[in-house]
Parts: sequence; structure tokens; C-alpha cells
Amino acid sequence: MPEVILSAQDLVKHYPIKKGILRRTVGHVKAVDGVSFDLHQGETLGIVGESGCGKSTLGRLLMRLEEPTSGKVIFGGDDWSGASGRDLRRMRRDIQIVFQDPYTSLNPRMTVGDIVGEPFEIHSDVVPKGGRRKRVQELLDLVGLNPEHINRYPHQFSGGQRQRIGIARGIALNPKVLVCDEPVSALDVSVQAQVVNLMEKLQNELGLAYVFIAHDLSVVRHISDRVGVMYLGRMAELGEEDEVYTRPTHPYTQALLSAVPVPDPTLRGKREQIVLVGDVPSPANPPSGCRFHTRCWKAQDRCKTEEPQLEQRPDGVGAHRSACHFAEPRVILETVDVSGVVPDERFASTDVRDTVVSDDAPADLQRMIDRSEASSGDQAYAPQDVTRLIDEQRGDHRPPTV
Ligand code: SF4
Repeated sequence: MPEVILSAQDLVKHYPIKKGILRRTVGHVKAVDGVSFDLHQGETLGIVGESGCGKSTLGRLLMRLEEPTSGKVIFGGDDWSGASGRDLRRMRRDIQIVFQDPYTSLNPRMTVGDIVGEPFEIHSDVVPKGGRRKRVQELLDLVGLNPEHINRYPHQFSGGQRQRIGIARGIALNPKVLVCDEPVSALDVSVQAQVVNLMEKLQNELGLAYVFIAHDLSVVRHISDRVGVMYLGRMAELGEEDEVYTRPTHPYTQALLSAVPVPDPTLRGKREQIVLVGDVPSPANPPSGCRFHTRCWKAQDRCKTEEPQLEQRPDGVGAHRSACHFAEPRVILETVDVSGVVPDERFASTDVRDTVVSDDAPADLQRMIDRSEASSGDQAYAPQDVTRLIDEQRGDHRPPTV
């Protein structure tokens, strides 16, 4: 197995709750409460869980965008938890992040060239000043964008293309680890497939390791080598993708998997569905013992008092890590044999397909472009969607001056 490149050791992040005129601390939101895992070179570790379980906070802790309350982040054998100044900058060169929302994570007043090239301003030794434009164009080409679009602004691109810009910015400094915080959640399904394929391609070419945070279990399964399931700030289950998806031993993982839609209509209604009762407890006041005991159908007295540790437990074939006193495997997903299915080449591709308007474009689309071209003397004021389509056909333009 490749060597460990990044290690989270008992990471904790508690946010204080302040009240009253004197802003006294009256409690803490336990967003992340003792999470440990290793990430190996070139590996993808998927992190899944419900909204509010602490996955994004965990990603920000790994990047040191949040200071941990306690615990360590070990990178390349060094403890980066207390790093600051030059050491922290050096660490950030090796661990980069791709944010969830491609619409708000890019500065609308900067060109793509400035956005992707901005890391070189801070890490000026990576690319000398004279070579930055060329390097940015290489990065745009690498993520499937036209290098000639270097002077365009984010609003001139589609959602999928913007996420590619975010990825280009993330890999600009040749990092070893990329933390991907819900990188495809805001995209259409077909564009999601293109971006995921692009990330796999980059991983193969550049040897990157990913921490892939998402709530979509199917996407995480597709891209991950190992998967961690989080519940209320703790890791409930951690194992190889195959172990977690085909032999889940933690009741929470089993319930999550039973909620994944079945693509085969003939299986609809036949699959067992586990419906959890009750709401997710507040992370400011998590239940004692096992945090899942208020919603678990297997809970016993022991679960209310004794917190289960994340440790190797039998899964029917081998063993993987699970935080349940009564862990036992349960097959949830019906297996659909897709071995003979030829993938649709639109989704297998990593090329940009979502904005190219061909001569065969539907008549409605062509009419919309014609109408816009006829009615707008100044391209900068054309409606945004149409502008984007026109942009693919024409030269550069800039947003209106404010
Ligand atoms: Fe359920 Fe008990 Fe296992 Fe927690 S430890 S998941 S409450 S059976």
C-alpha cells in the first residue's frame, strides 16, 4: 500500500455559543468531535454524511482554514497543527481545496487568468513572473478549457466550466492533496459526470490524493477507494468502498444506503428501505454513549452509556472499522450488473460539451442566439445565459463597467 501522506489524529472543532450582553460562553457546537483517518498517496477517500454532520468543517480543518480545538494534522510526517507564517504557506502549497459553489467561489471582477494565476503571486518561486501566462494557459488546457479564454470573466462560463476553473486553481501549485468540498453538488448530473471524470484523469496524470466530501453516495462510490461515513461530528464507519457499500455494519450506513434511489424500475418497491425516526440531534447537545442511539432500531441500554469506538469489526467476509457495539453486515443495495453496458460517450468524456453550439443545434436555441444578436448592440448587456452561448462563437468581451 502507498505510504500515508496526510493523517488526521483525533481532530476536534468546537464552536462556542455566546449569549447575553457580556457574550458569555454557554455551550459549544461540537461540529467535529474526534475524527481520525489516514490518506495514502494517490488515493481518494470519500467522506459522506447528512448535512450538518461536520464533513465540510473537517475539510477546512485539514486545510487549516479553521483552527482545530484539539487534535493534529500530520502531513508528510510533520505536524502542521501549530504551523504559522512561512511553514503554513508551505503546507498550503501541498494541500489545496476545491469549493462547492462554482458561482460564488470565483471573484467576478477577476479574469480567469488572474484567478488561476493568483496562487503564483503568493508562491512566486513556483513559476517565474514571465512564464505565468503560459502556465495558466497550460492549466486551462489540462482541465479541458480553451486556453484562449484566459481573459474572460467567470460569468461568461457555465457552471461546469467554472468548476473546472476552480480545479485549475486548485492544482496550480502542484499540490499533493486536493480537498474537494462537495465539488459537483451544484452541477447538473451530466456535468457532474464530466467533472468527476476530469478529476479521475488528473489524479492518474498528477498522482494527486483526494479527500472527496459529498452527500451523494453514488458519486462518492464512483470516485473513492475508501469511504468514511460521518454522523454528528464522529466517524461511524470507515473502510474500502466495496466493504462499506456491500457489507455495511453500522446501522446508520445501512439506513443511508437504503435511501439511495434504485435506477432499475423493475426493482422499485422490492428493496428494503430503512426509515429512521426522529430528527438529527443538536451537535450542541449530542446524545450520551452512542450518538446514534436516539434513532437506532438496534439500540440497547449499553448504547446509551458506553460510546462505541471506531475499530475493526467482522463484516461477514473480512473486517473493517465501525463504531457500533452490535455491528453486523446487512446487504442493502440490489446489485445491478452493468458490466455489458457501454457508457454514453457524452458522460465518459472530459471535454467541454455543455456550451458548444453546433450547426445542428436545436432550432429554439439557434433562434434564441439570433434574437439576442439582433437585439443587443452591446454584448456585455446580453442576458447571461445567452451571452455565454454567444461567447463560444465570438471574441472576447468584458462585463459592464460599474
Ligand atoms: Fe445502534 Fe447501539 Fe450500534 Fe449505536 S452502538 S449504532 S445505538 S446498536
